[in-house]
Amino acid sequence: MQLDTLLARAGARLQAGGSSSPRRDAEVLLCHVLKVERSWLYTWGDREAGPWQRARFEALVAARAQGQPVAYLTGEREFWGLGLATGPSTLIPRPDTETLVEAALALAGATEGALLDLGTGTGAIALAFASERPGWQAMGVDISQEAVELAQYNARRLEIANVVFLQSDWLDALEAKPRHRQRFDLIVANPPYIAESDPHLTQGDVRFEPRSALVSGDDGFFDLEYLISEARRYLKEGGWLLLEHGFAQGERLGQAIEAAGYDAVETLADLAGRPRVTRGCWPGP
Ligand code: GLN
Repeated sequence: MQLDTLLARAGARLQAGGSSSPRRDAEVLLCHVLKVERSWLYTWGDREAGPWQRARFEALVAARAQGQPVAYLTGEREFWGLGLATGPSTLIPRPDTETLVEAALALAGATEGALLDLGTGTGAIALAFASERPGWQAMGVDISQEAVELAQYNARRLEIANVVFLQSDWLDALEAKPRHRQRFDLIVANPPYIAESDPHLTQGDVRFEPRSALVSGDDGFFDLEYLISEARRYLKEGGWLLLEHGFAQGERLGQAIEAAGYDAVETLADLAGRPRVTRGCWPGP
């Protein structure tokens, strides 16, 4: 069967399965099986798929039709132009989070400094930042040892050397290990911030992602508020805390950051104009 025909059938099947991007999903899965770029498919769509390729592709399409995220099926997702290995122990990096990377880079004018990424998952934020600021040192921590190994693997594969990853429940390991007891110029996080009862959790890819990376108490603020308080002991004077959050959380979060003693509190919008990142500058105790 021709690749074009395979794709058309898979697209129809995925549409019926409820995917919001059926054609794109089918193309990404076929590229993964054939080990080619998407542009290759547009030129060579009249080629025949081999029997093994077809079987492998159809198995992936079937899993996708059951709702499995494409990034878990291919084991990869692009973020900030970096191909990152992904897996079910981490949140799948989202384009939205590039807003947080941009906000961190905008504050990182100096040629050197130290950044800490809390709840790093695949390492997406720390790696994107470190790749843009070779003179800085980045550290990413995650409560999941599997996530830490994935992030370390990504750093090796991308040959990004100015980043380290370690297992830690938020800042606990830094507290315990004196050699990690340092202060940072920037502390960033894309923590869990969804409310337990949010209907968003029962739809699409998020059903397959770790709940611990998504859900934070009754109202979604539990971890955000914890980080606002704890980060103060790890920021240099004049250092910045930057937190990603949900569309409707900016105002309350800004107030909480101000109440905790930070200055210059500001909420920044994502590419779609929605408030998604709030930052505050730590003036010192
Ligand atoms: N923005 C993500 C979502 O809506 C959630 C990410 C998070 O909780 N940190 O699925």
